Amino acid sequence: MSMDPFCIEAETGRSMFFRSEHFMVLYDIRPVVRGHILFVPKRHMLDILEMTKSEIEDFHSVFAKTVPRILRIYGASEGSYDLTSQIGRYSGRSVEHLHFHVLPRKKDDLYNKSDKSIFEDLKLNRSGFSPADVKKEVEMLRKEFGYKPG
Ligand SMILES: [Zn+2]
Repeated sequence: MSMDPFCIEAETGRSMFFRSEHFMVLYDIRPVVRGHILFVPKRHMLDILEMTKSEIEDFHSVFAKTVPRILRIYGASEGSYDLTSQIGRYSGRSVEHLHFHVLPRKKDDLYNKSDKSIFEDLKLNRSGFSPADVKKEVEMLRKEFGYKPG
C-alpha cells in the first residue's frame, strides 16, 4: 500500500481539472510558471516503462486534448513548453508516483530572460505563486474544461 499524495483522492481532487480512463490532469500546487500542469496515471507506478499499451494510448489522447488548450490559455510562445519527468531515486524525483510536468514557456519569461534554471526551481519545489493564486487557476481550468469535481 502506497500513501504518496497521487494515490490519495483528497489530495489529487484539490487541483484536478481533467481526467480520462487512466490519467488525471492536475494543476501543480507549487507551480514554477503559470499553467504548470501534471499528468498522473491513476494506477500507482514509478516508471514510464510500467505503462501498458492502453495507458500509453490514453496518455497520448489526454495530452492531445489538454496541452494545446493550455498553451493557448497561458499564451505560450510559438507553442513552446517543457515536458519533464523524474524517474528513479537519483533523478531529482520528489513524489514517488510517476508524473509528467508540462510547463508552458514564453519568449520573455524569467527563465529565458535570465540564467535561472527552470529545472532547478522544479527540483527545489520553488514557486512564486500563492495558494490563493493556484486555487483561482484551478477554478478557471475546471470551467474551461467543463470538469465537475467529485
Ligand atoms: Zn501512488
